[in-house]
Amino acid sequence: MTSPRIRILATGGTIAGSAGSAIERGYRPGQIGVAELLSAAQALGLDARFDGRDIAAIGSQDIGWAHWNALHMSIFDALLDDDTDGIIVTHGTDTAEETAFLLDLTLQAGKPVVLVGAMRPADAVGSDGMRNLSNAVRVAGDELAAGRGVLVVMSDQVFAAIDVRKAATGGAEAFRGFPRGPIANVTPTSLDWFGPPDRTGRGARFAWPDGLPRVSILTAYAGMEPDAVQCALSGGAQGLVLAGLGQGNAPTPVLDALAKAGVPVVRSSRVDQGSVDRNLEVDDDALGFVAARGLGPAKARILLQVLLANGIADPVRMQAEFDRR
Ligand code: GLU
Repeated sequence: MTSPRIRILATGGTIAGSAGSAIERGYRPGQIGVAELLSAAQALGLDARFDGRDIAAIGSQDIGWAHWNALHMSIFDALLDDDTDGIIVTHGTDTAEETAFLLDLTLQAGKPVVLVGAMRPADAVGSDGMRNLSNAVRVAGDELAAGRGVLVVMSDQVFAAIDVRKAATGGAEAFRGFPRGPIANVTPTSLDWFGPPDRTGRGARFAWPDGLPRVSILTAYAGMEPDAVQCALSGGAQGLVLAGLGQGNAPTPVLDALAKAGVPVVRSSRVDQGSVDRNLEVDDDALGFVAARGLGPAKARILLQVLLANGIADPVRMQAEFDRR
């Protein structure tokens, strides 16, 4: 068998981060470009052929429409390129779940697309970057990685974009999946899928839009004031996501203000795990809300943006998309 041809698209993050010393506490993400990443990957002697592109050199807290647009275009090109078998995106971990899910919603699933990051900078003692990159190469070069949507590889585990969350601020094992945990275990020399590819159809779920509308997340807390809703609307929000209490709840005055907001409202939870379902304690039918189901606030926001950008604003149709897996 010939070695898989992997395209690496670099965006920055800790995997490209440098502290300047192996024991320095502070560091700067996005210091290492794709050329350096490629030669480091090549030096590992992995069974793959590489080429690469620099998309950005940022901490992923600064990612936004322009980067996403460039990234989407580059992946789209690589998907059409007969000389590329799989695509790896190196990315900061802070917003990896948002980028992965946005790409998952808008790309066809015919070739593996894998996001990978690191929790420790490249020059730190015990850096996880090259281990994670080697694992990502293993996944991106595997035919069985296609047909599962965009994947995220961290700490010897593979997660589907729809499930993955950054669940810890530190430590190499910072990612979790919900409702599914990891869908495979991976090392540089092994890859064990827990089931067959599960995505129905290989086409993109949504068209790539010309832009994404402003959607704000409002985090609920005891005593939350309803004027947060008006504040978001005055800032130009065209949709709102409630990062609610428990099952997507909020103080009654806030729910009243959301019902009158005049823009689509999605109820998610500030709790790390668990589904937000319709009409349990909050009367979604009467108030016109959409329940986020298994999506946390950050990914619920991405889906709401993509729906609005594709002209889908009817709550029943929106709910069907939030129900879909
Ligand atoms: N905040 C930076 C980012 O998300 C560094 C964190 C990381 O990559 O782990 O890019």
